[in-house]
Amino acid sequence: MRISCEVLVSNRKLPSLNLGNKRTGTQSSLGIGRLPGSKPDVSSLFIHLCTAQNKQGTKYKVVENIERVFTKYVAEGKFTIRFKEPAHDLCVKADPVLAKTFLQTLKLGIQNKDIAKLHLSNLAPIKQSQVEKPKTKLVIESKQEYPITTAFPYTLESLKVNNVQLNRVENRIMKLKKLHSLNLNHNIIKELPTKMNEMHCLVNLHLSFNNITCISHQLFSGRLSHTLQMLDLSNNKIEYLPHTLGQLHSLVSLKLDGNILHKLPISLGKLTRLKYLTASKNKLVELPATLSNLRLESMDVFGNPFSSPLGIVRNNIKGVPSLKEIASTQCVQRGLCPTAADIPATLVEYLQAWLKCLCGKICYESHILACITLNLQLVASGLVLGNVFQTTAPALATLCSQKCFDKFSKT
Ligand SMILES: [Zn+2]
Repeated sequence: MRISCEVLVSNRKLPSLNLGNKRTGTQSSLGIGRLPGSKPDVSSLFIHLCTAQNKQGTKYKVVENIERVFTKYVAEGKFTIRFKEPAHDLCVKADPVLAKTFLQTLKLGIQNKDIAKLHLSNLAPIKQSQVEKPKTKLVIESKQEYPITTAFPYTLESLKVNNVQLNRVENRIMKLKKLHSLNLNHNIIKELPTKMNEMHCLVNLHLSFNNITCISHQLFSGRLSHTLQMLDLSNNKIEYLPHTLGQLHSLVSLKLDGNILHKLPISLGKLTRLKYLTASKNKLVELPATLSNLRLESMDVFGNPFSSPLGIVRNNIKGVPSLKEIASTQCVQRGLCPTAADIPATLVEYLQAWLKCLCGKICYESHILACITLNLQLVASGLVLGNVFQTTAPALATLCSQKCFDKFSKT
């Protein structure tokens, strides 16, 4: 049994050296073991502490030598072992699961239970790699460097895999619980697995220069919808983006350049934290008018045809709206968020699919869909559109009434 951890050795006989709380531990390897050939009972048991400076390590006798083990914070991976001789306290910080396993082995050893069967260290000096700090960043830029038989370090926070002809996002990448930045630019990925939406704390996702053709609507739900701040899908073959894009509440930057998008989802207007949007060199015939809800710092939609004719596309206002629509509108306006525990699940979904007229009113089925002129100078302070004089583009708007259509089609 040997674990990789941080250990602070505190000598109780030198209290003056222990002043101040700012001292941090040293990256160490902590083992429980016995020397090969020794008697398989507790008297031969040692705790073995090795560091990069001391690979031979210090051996602490276990039998009748442990004064106390402090385990109050073991759930966070922290514990302290107090030895009688030498008068040392080993303050340990490790992965919580490893910390518990270590203490469990120590307990069984002290109780003298089946020591021969316990997974024990042979107290041999350690290698340099066993006391290196766990890797948090990994950059792979060629096929040879890509690990096939070994796992990715579970401690990774940033992973960059470029130019290795990767054709899918592997399960073992999605399972990295500490990963907050994933860059898979310049590969040949065609599809993104839905499971990616369960990645724990992903903030930056770069997927530029791949072969992605479509994106599942489930991808933008789950945990990802709360954590993702930067999404780069530029230079792929995407034709369509799902309306669930509007659920990426934390998104600040979205790059969609060099795809074959004809339209952007109306829900884009729900991304109120968005500051940077690029969708140049697509096939956009219009923009969603909901963009007028946003205040972007920069927007680049250069190289799109913007050819949609102005006017009404569809008039869905037929008499009085349904009771379901009236009740849902009230719900959204009053900020009520019923869950599947309160109302049928299909109604929850219906509720979330609200649309907003440019006047601010919430609407569902009863609305006019029309192409109007949108002044993009009001949306973004830095704008790249066509030429320097062009500041407007056709935009598809949801309008709550004929009155609103008359008003907004003029401006
Ligand atoms: Zn309106």
